[in-house]
Amino acid sequence: MIGTPVFVALGSNLGDREAALAFAVTALGAIEGVRVLAVTPALETEPLGGLPQPAYLNAMALLDVTCTPHELLAACQRIERQAGRRARTRWASRELDLDIVRFGDVVSEEPALRLPHPGLADRAFWIRQLEELEARVDG
Ligand code: AMP
Repeated sequence: MIGTPVFVALGSNLGDREAALAFAVTALGAIEGVRVLAVTPALETEPLGGLPQPAYLNAMALLDVTCTPHELLAACQRIERQAGRRARTRWASRELDLDIVRFGDVVSEEPALRLPHPGLADRAFWIRQLEELEARVDG
């Protein structure tokens, strides 16, 4: 680890979900100042938010990051657009959703970049995936 350990959640519930997650892992690794150290197996989950929509495929990546949180957020949003994602309502289906779950010890209440991600509280599978990857941080 040369930089900061960062955990990014990957989700897709539209189109070829496996291809979208694979694309995301490759694209994350191509960001300047980012190295992908590990990725959890993909897991199928039911959508949150109460709207009828297809199940999600979710995974989490552990990154070694030397860029800033905002640089990483901008890069994630670019990757989402490249995966075909259009602006939709909050809980709508998406080809690819990238969420920065934790960026080292950074705490931020800024609406554009909340850290740690507030969704950790209602996504038990994020917590499990985090724990799986945490074992890799110093290993
Ligand atoms: P979503 O529809 O879940 O992809 O949410 C996208 C919005 O959440 C964007 O406007 C981001 O700026 C904002 N956001 C706030 N905190 C985070 C975070 N930790 N990771 C990713 N997006 C975030």
